[in-house]
Amino acid sequence: MIKKADIILFIIILAVGLAVTVLPLTRTLNDPEVKVTVNGETYGVYPLSEDRTVEILQSTSDGTGTMKNVLVIRDGKCFMESASCHNQICVNHGPISGRGQVIVCLPNKVVCEIVGGGDVDVVSG
Ligand SMILES: [Zn+2]
Repeated sequence: MIKKADIILFIIILAVGLAVTVLPLTRTLNDPEVKVTVNGETYGVYPLSEDRTVEILQSTSDGTGTMKNVLVIRDGKCFMESASCHNQICVNHGPISGRGQVIVCLPNKVVCEIVGGGDVDVVSG
């Protein structure tokens, strides 16, 4: 005997399964986002479609100071507006907007990478 509750449960499982399958695919179809990684850990992910300023703050390894990177998202691009690092390579790097492009601040171990952007090859693997 198949009870009504079993059918409902089956539909729920099916729906959840579909959602889990579909969500990662639709995510790659979204607008590009910039993923900020600090010292190998994700600091935050921000859509390029929204203008904002992201202050990336972290303590120096000896704990006596603060390292700072200021990432600006504007007009669908992002760039490092200022940084406390000594070489300023990240600041001198031009704006990035395409998937896979990165701005790296080696002294501060900050990586800003463009992810998403809806390229079909992401979906097919
Ligand atoms: Zn830097």
